[in-house]
Amino acid sequence: MIAVLKQGTTDQQQENLISWFKDMGLDVHISKGEFHTILGLIGDTTKVDIGLLESLSIIESVKRISEPFKNANRKFHTEDSVIDVNGVKIGAGNFQIIAGPCSVESHDQIIEIAKRVQASGATILRGGAFKPRTSPYDFQGLRGDGIELLLEAKKVTGLPLISEIMAINDLDLFEDVDIIQVGARNMQNFDLLRELGKTDKIILIKRGLANTMKELLMSTEYIMAGGNENVILCERGIRTFETYTRNTLDLSAVPMLHELSHLPVIVDPSHATGLSRLVEPMALAATAAGADGLMIEVHNDPEKALCDGAQSLTPDQFDTVARKVRKIREAIAE
Ligand code: PEP
Ligand code: MN
Repeated sequence: MIAVLKQGTTDQQQENLISWFKDMGLDVHISKGEFHTILGLIGDTTKVDIGLLESLSIIESVKRISEPFKNANRKFHTEDSVIDVNGVKIGAGNFQIIAGPCSVESHDQIIEIAKRVQASGATILRGGAFKPRTSPYDFQGLRGDGIELLLEAKKVTGLPLISEIMAINDLDLFEDVDIIQVGARNMQNFDLLRELGKTDKIILIKRGLANTMKELLMSTEYIMAGGNENVILCERGIRTFETYTRNTLDLSAVPMLHELSHLPVIVDPSHATGLSRLVEPMALAATAAGADGLMIEVHNDPEKALCDGAQSLTPDQFDTVARKVRKIREAIAE
């Protein structure tokens, strides 16, 4: 349920109303807009007498929210959220390209790639240290050592970092990692999400392989209900009956999630297609569809990559994509 307060409501009146809601066992999410303050009520709102609420002099309107996700709901927070990654902003017109290898493999590999993608306009460096691989016999990532190498790349380039967490026990290792990624396979690892909700880290959550947008937003709710509102959504393709591509990129998720939620939405065309030659057209299409950013896998020697070489761009190819993406951004700017 949301309650829109009238303009001119005093802080004291607002406080009194919030205490009244809290006495009913409800959590209150406050969204201060330019003209109106919206109170989002979370919990069992069946006890709230809508008629009584509407009759209060400070209430402009009251509406029940039918969607089961609340904190991420645009009705709770009408303006786009901006996620600030150490000065690098994502959302509300701020567009960023995240680039880097699927996995951190060595010092020279990550430093070389970091410098190259930065020179081409990437503003955040990606690199997996903990890898959720389908086969336990495949490369599992350099784990803590991989995070150390990412931190060296951050020192050299100044680029903020994103890396995937698989288990909450590893959280301490992510202290200087700027964005924690929850991968597609962990989108419904509810214990992990709940623990991340207790932190103030920026979380990028990827849509699961076979999950609906509603399920993605419900997973987001686990993080946000814990008090952590720093969430970025990521569409990375879903599993369909199609086999030519690794996944099927659901680009309609970009405008749909923007309609449903105030959180930034980025697109990963690398995992969505699995084929490096499809990354450019899908990156351009995602940009045109209004994504707030892209996440693209780049490797200095894709043929020898320990993970996802087939979908990785070379630094030169990435340079071309980044240049064309900027042109699309200019073309759609109003
Ligand atoms: C990744 O980003 O490296 C990754 C494993 O992606 P996803 O969870 O989307 O498969
Ligand atoms: Mn990958």
